[in-house]
Amino acid sequence: MKYTRSSALFANAEQVIPGGVNSPVRAFKAVGGTPLFIKEAKGAYLTDEDNNTFIDYINSWGPMILGHAYPPVVNAIIDKAKLGTSFGAPTEIETEIAALAVSMVPNIDKIRFVNSGTEACMSAVRLARGYTGKEKIIKFAGCYHGHSDSFLIQAGSGAMTFGSPNSPGVTAGTAKDTLLAKYNDIAHVKSIIDANLNDIACIILEPVAGNMGCVPPQANFLEQLRVLCDSNNILLVFDEVMTGFRLARGGAQELYNVKADIVCFGKVIGGGLPVGAFAAREEIMNYLAPLGPVYQAGTLSGNPLAMAAGLAMLKALENDTEVFNRLAEKTEYLHRGLTKVLNDHKIVHTINRVGSMISVHFSDTPVVDFETSATGNNENFKTFFHGMLEQGVYIAPSAFETWFITDALTYADLDATINAVHKVATTLKK
Ligand code: PLP
Repeated sequence: MKYTRSSALFANAEQVIPGGVNSPVRAFKAVGGTPLFIKEAKGAYLTDEDNNTFIDYINSWGPMILGHAYPPVVNAIIDKAKLGTSFGAPTEIETEIAALAVSMVPNIDKIRFVNSGTEACMSAVRLARGYTGKEKIIKFAGCYHGHSDSFLIQAGSGAMTFGSPNSPGVTAGTAKDTLLAKYNDIAHVKSIIDANLNDIACIILEPVAGNMGCVPPQANFLEQLRVLCDSNNILLVFDEVMTGFRLARGGAQELYNVKADIVCFGKVIGGGLPVGAFAAREEIMNYLAPLGPVYQAGTLSGNPLAMAAGLAMLKALENDTEVFNRLAEKTEYLHRGLTKVLNDHKIVHTINRVGSMISVHFSDTPVVDFETSATGNNENFKTFFHGMLEQGVYIAPSAFETWFITDALTYADLDATINAVHKVATTLKK
């Protein structure tokens, strides 16, 4: 495959954009090589500027759950754009999408829209602090909640790949209020709470982690967190930016039947436009300005184009009662195929999967937290990534990312992917 035009565009971009990209993981630093510059995408496929076409397993890092350029979403955006693109005043569609989201997700009465997952998580934590009157938060190593200062403490994903989990620019004062726990280790969480009694406003986590690969919560982990929160007057914040409207209509709360106090959304809820949201029961949400004292705002929040895209996406998911089962079945099929091929080639690996999130780790240790996710053979991952690209399959350019399955993928696409792994496996170290 030729990447001539992508290489030239990247060189130009590097002159005027730091590292040539507007979000670090796109730069392919963890795997080397030139990032692909994308020209267009449709359904399950991406086409780059050199006219190479790929089966896409990144899907804009999650939002395109029904495939690229999904017609109802595209049409909704076009129709809205003709009426004006932003007013800075309330619009009816904001209430429409809010009511639909509230009806789909358990345990929330009100929702506020923002412009990114980062903003959603940042605002959720401010609300939790304001509501409880406490300052410290617990986050888990390897969980990523966006790039707000409080969260850049052993964050997963791009921050992890770049080996600078504690980013310069985050002050010691901010860092001291973020207490770091081990994912899936309830005894560790309990010891942190015991050492900080009456100081902890919230525990924030990805209920299924997707930023250290896909790491499911172990049996009872979420339930035990709920109990610990209840007995210590701590709010439980589920960051469902990845899992929301992906694992089930009601996200991980529904899948695991555990109630969170505040839920954060992003990705799917915006149908591919820049949208985040956070939601909770009425008494918590009423703490927000203009009703309550906790300030939170946004010039473009609830933007009509973004709301139109999100509403079209949520309606499509709401109306298709089989979509989440179908996604899980496709992912399971891929899982079975990958396992067989990698076993046939005697490649050491672990595959984690929940619903339509799946990750391949070149390690034989179970991947249950940040430490175990880091044990994978990164050389094998690099070879695998570039080999798959050559075979026309675009997976995330980092071992710490999950793959996102889209409903646009056919079983023929999945077979082609498994076949590609078969070819690439011959180049991997056993
Ligand atoms: N939370 C989770 C779980 C995420 O995966 C991400 C982004 O990948 C974020 C928050 C931040 O969202 P955004 O990149 O839209 O700011």
